[in-house]
Amino acid sequence: MGATDILEARTARAQLIQANRDAPAFVTLKANMPGKEKVNGEERFVVLLFKALLRTLYQTDFHIQTTADGHLAYARLNKPASEVKRMSSWLEATHPIGRLVDIDVHQNGRTLHRTHKRHCMVCGGDVHTCRREARHSLEALGRHYKREVHNFFKHALAREAIKALRKELFTYPCYGLVSHKSSGIHRDMNVSHFLHAFPLLEDAFKEYIGMALNGKDTLEALRKRGQMHEARIFEGVGRNTHKGAHFLFGLVLTHFTRSVFNGGDFDSFLDELKARGKTIESHDFSHKKTPASTGEKAYQVNQIRGVRGEVSDGFPSIFSWWKPATRHWHGFYKLTHIMARLEDTTLYKRGTLENVKETLKETDILACDMENLNFTLRKASPGGAADLLGVLYFFESTGYLLNMSP
Ligand SMILES: [Zn+2]
Repeated sequence: MGATDILEARTARAQLIQANRDAPAFVTLKANMPGKEKVNGEERFVVLLFKALLRTLYQTDFHIQTTADGHLAYARLNKPASEVKRMSSWLEATHPIGRLVDIDVHQNGRTLHRTHKRHCMVCGGDVHTCRREARHSLEALGRHYKREVHNFFKHALAREAIKALRKELFTYPCYGLVSHKSSGIHRDMNVSHFLHAFPLLEDAFKEYIGMALNGKDTLEALRKRGQMHEARIFEGVGRNTHKGAHFLFGLVLTHFTRSVFNGGDFDSFLDELKARGKTIESHDFSHKKTPASTGEKAYQVNQIRGVRGEVSDGFPSIFSWWKPATRHWHGFYKLTHIMARLEDTTLYKRGTLENVKETLKETDILACDMENLNFTLRKASPGGAADLLGVLYFFESTGYLLNMSP
């Protein structure tokens, strides 16, 4: 896109501001992207991130447009403009990547001034001096921008994954799983083992996301680093607390990262993940191979595909029932819905898979008494379903970055 397109986009933005001059506060949000390349995955991420933050703060949906000048989000707010400007200035000044976004507040068609001074994003000096003296090339500014975005993204996404796993651990009732309330049927593990594993897992996740950002997330490389981290976690915790979740999140996080920065949406993300799942299945379930895990053995004996099948088929145990309205359900219902649909190799190991699934299919889960159902199935520990519940929690909190419905 050329300079004329960018100028036209800016004129259209000015017209939009004038058209909304009657709003108490009209807010526009754009990435503060240096250089000629105004539309890319990094600026889109910045806009989607701050759009979600503002949506939470003001309970208002922002519209979004893709223009030659980058993504533009905007909304009319029924609040005093000066108050909104104070909040947006505070966000720009204190958020780890607030320097990379422009949140403008307009009143009567005029743009309110910032209450804080902005510093140069590269050297932290006076931004006007750096600009006047051309202290940084456009290329250097662009590189810096991407680096800052990637660095923030890596830490934030790994943290979201851990938050999702923590939420899953604290979901109760949960049949015979380990939770903060009890160890369920597990005599060798309790909540402290799981909590202890989180920082180690977070390090692993950060590394996988970094590999995806650098285009180095081949299956072979991920497997190698995955084994290293698995050994490290086992050494640190003394238990295999997150074997399934580690495998799932390794795949989900790397593909999620690629999709965010390639401008993908949730559907294209799932398609790419499915393709990778199929490659893994054909490798791990090869009949020439001696089974290396419960999952591989279950497949060879009974064709139970477990979490690998879930990845290849795009998480049918979640997306065959999940819709935005179910977001507010109690975690127990979500867990039960997944359990009723998943070929869970953990349950298979205990010989209870068919019993459990039949019971759940016959039960109107939302109408049933949670404690009672939990008591009936207290000897089942649906480990695979728990891992998928963690994945679902992760999608619920981060799906907006791929335009998944709110
Ligand atoms: Zn500077």
